[in-house]
Amino acid sequence: MSTDNSTHDTLTGLINRKGFEEKLKAAVLHAQQNDRPLSLAFLDIDHFKRLNDSMGHEAGDVVIKAVGDIVQRVAGDKAIICRYGGEEYTIIFPDTEREQAFLLIERARAEIAQLKSMSDGKKKVNVQLTISGGIAAYPIDAQEENELLRKADQALYKAKGSGRNKIVLSYEE
Ligand code: GH3
Ligand code: MG
Ligand code: MG
Repeated sequence: MSTDNSTHDTLTGLINRKGFEEKLKAAVLHAQQNDRPLSLAFLDIDHFKRLNDSMGHEAGDVVIKAVGDIVQRVAGDKAIICRYGGEEYTIIFPDTEREQAFLLIERARAEIAQLKSMSDGKKKVNVQLTISGGIAAYPIDAQEENELLRKADQALYKAKGSGRNKIVLSYEE
């Protein structure tokens, strides 16, 4: 893995927002030029501030790394996972229809929801938490990257509004 700090996040080892923007642009171009589907997921840990406040920032960091690891493993090698912001992740699924992306992200959601502890490989934190997510796909929901991200974020917002611990597809809106 590259260790370039300008495109990678040091806590999780995932690509950062800047790296993601480059990857998404390239992935959309690939989809447009080859007439291929592309899915994008936006994930956010539920009530993360509560966890930070009750268990401390260091425990929060363990959780951010652990959730990234789980999503990476479940989403598979083809998926490009990014730490978009604090406790937010974006996942690019090249050549993937939204239903397939949904199945993978839903699997990660279900796995995380039943855990009673999380580890970053060094420290273990006894915590139960959930994630919410939104998914949008090229070309059906959006035809360019900004719109794709906006649609995925809107779907995430809907997941939050309907009780959290849920993955919502853009077209359900
Ligand atoms: P919601 O379910 O609506 O997403 O609520 P939330 O509490 O998860 O969302 P909110 O945006 O209110 O809080 C996010 C928190 O994430 C606030 C901030 O202190 C924390 N955070 C951001 N970056 C980091 C980090 O690198 N490490 C830790 N431990 N906490 C962080
Ligand atoms: Mg957030
Ligand atoms: Mg959150």
